[in-house]
Amino acid sequence: MHSIRDEQKPTQKGPKLIPIDKNLLPSRGRYYKSDLFCRKLTAIETKDLSKLKTNTVNSVFNQVLSGAISGIDVEDIMLNDRLWLIYYLRSITYDDIPFKVFGTCPICGDSGWFEYKLKDLDVTYANEDLERDLELTNGDKVTLSFPTIGDELEIARTKADPNLMENIDVDVMTVASHIRSINGEPVSIYEAYVYFSRGNGSAKDYSRLLTHLRKYAFGASPKGAFKCRKCKQNLLIDIPLGSDFFLPEI
Ligand SMILES: [Zn+2]
Repeated sequence: MHSIRDEQKPTQKGPKLIPIDKNLLPSRGRYYKSDLFCRKLTAIETKDLSKLKTNTVNSVFNQVLSGAISGIDVEDIMLNDRLWLIYYLRSITYDDIPFKVFGTCPICGDSGWFEYKLKDLDVTYANEDLERDLELTNGDKVTLSFPTIGDELEIARTKADPNLMENIDVDVMTVASHIRSINGEPVSIYEAYVYFSRGNGSAKDYSRLLTHLRKYAFGASPKGAFKCRKCKQNLLIDIPLGSDFFLPEI
């Protein structure tokens, strides 16, 4: 007779978890309480990443991060850390194999090939904590935090809501999603959006908010930062997220 233990499948050894040095993240890990870990990308994930399309890019990124990052729920990852994490995962998966990109200097016209590695990614770091309380020009006091992937999903759900008889401007809603309360009253992302679309928030208030957020902005752009070999000009060259990048020749 079999005991329950005998009927259990042999436990498969999970992939090796690699700790992420949070200081490397664009946010510098400022907004995460827990430690973050990752594993190398799987063949299926790199295949999915090699076929990104404009309308699927966010969902593929989220799917990949929810599988490959642990220590945090994917919805709690800062939106502005997401792209960096994708480049990071590609780097650790292939031991930072260089990726060749061709660039031309806009100043002297010299052109040539550059070898991109993760260290070359164009990153803006959060060098201080967000000042969470802000008084707008109309005297309203708002409290702020940076949006997460979960907030982006809520924006997408709101935009798709058939009960809303209005066209949502996603750019304004994304800025509004930084607002968590107005004069001490908690607000939803939609309510924060309405504050600017037809509420007390004027264009001046919106600009005040943008100006404030800009001081604390962080994130990665899909570009490599290089120097022109001839005139030493700083160059930003696109690092395209395509099949050559995610399924490199080995
Ligand atoms: Zn040059």
